[in-house]
Amino acid sequence: MKGLAELGEFGLIDQIRARFPQPAAPELGIGDDAALLSSSAGCQVVVSTDLLAEGVHFDLGFGPARLLGRKSLAVNLSDIASMGAIPRWFFLSLAIPAGFPLATIEGFLDGLAEQAATHGCVLAGGDTCSSKGGLTVSVTIMGEQQPDLILKRSGAQPGDEVWVSGTLGDSALGLKLLMEGVRLGGAHDPLLLRQLDPAPRCDLGQRLAEAGLAHAMIDISDGLLADLGHICEQSGCGAEVTLSQLPLSTPFKAYAAGQPGVPWHLAISGGEDYELCFTAPRCNHAAIQKISKTAGIPLTVVGKVTDSGQVKTTLPDGTIFKPSASGYTHF
Ligand code: ADP
Ligand code: MG
Repeated sequence: MKGLAELGEFGLIDQIRARFPQPAAPELGIGDDAALLSSSAGCQVVVSTDLLAEGVHFDLGFGPARLLGRKSLAVNLSDIASMGAIPRWFFLSLAIPAGFPLATIEGFLDGLAEQAATHGCVLAGGDTCSSKGGLTVSVTIMGEQQPDLILKRSGAQPGDEVWVSGTLGDSALGLKLLMEGVRLGGAHDPLLLRQLDPAPRCDLGQRLAEAGLAHAMIDISDGLLADLGHICEQSGCGAEVTLSQLPLSTPFKAYAAGQPGVPWHLAISGGEDYELCFTAPRCNHAAIQKISKTAGIPLTVVGKVTDSGQVKTTLPDGTIFKPSASGYTHF
């Protein structure tokens, strides 16, 4: 097999292009100085970008490169999902250390192509350069939605119920286990996979937006407390979260059963859940439960929006929970 040095920058770009279906004419993807894309009539373009740096966001020793490829797009798809938009195109920028194994890049591209195909998202271009540090992956994603349907962080109103999708804390627990040396291929796979291969809630996000039932929405990437805090800041309100109502998975509960106490910090401040958190008026409760059924994803009320200006968390025994950190921040 050829190495990265023989392949060169343009050889690698050719390999990338060959793996991804390109936009259909009159659109233009990889190959010119810029891409040409056409959004649907009446839609606003929704753009988001995420940078993943080796040693900061991922460790290639934690799992196959294929899963890193899937996750690189998943975290971006999650941002599109949180706006209730439909993913359309993405751009891939790679900084690769000289001598990096080509097989690892191929595995990464395989996973990325799988995720792109699942969500009907087309690779329209990118940039490629060498890195003096580790591998760096940057994905910029573009989606679209009708402006009146897009869900923002602002818009929450006192009295709204606070909902979350799926279960919380699995990814943070999976990361903790990976850092302790646990690897795929054992009983902890469901937790490890929540960290290594998160599932963006694209279909659910679109359904919620199109039904017009929610006031505000965000994806939970930094932990529920931090991300609900962003909704509160942008909406000029506060919230109360009741920990006993948090949706916890069976593997998370099984792990907690062997611990001195439930690791609540993982469930509310751990991060990388990539679930959706949204607020909606109480009168929409039944309609939202219906969407949960149709989409096949559990939705749970974990608290309510208040006019206090703060996020208050109550433990199952009624006392106030004091988080040591409210979510991951860089620097
Ligand atoms: P420029 O010199 O203008 O930066 P490049 O030679 O880097 O152009 O890119 C040539 C074409 O290849 C462009 O269409 C660009 O979008 C695409 N491209 C470069 N790197 C990647 C990548 N990692 N993934 C997808 N497309 C890429
Ligand atoms: Mg370039």
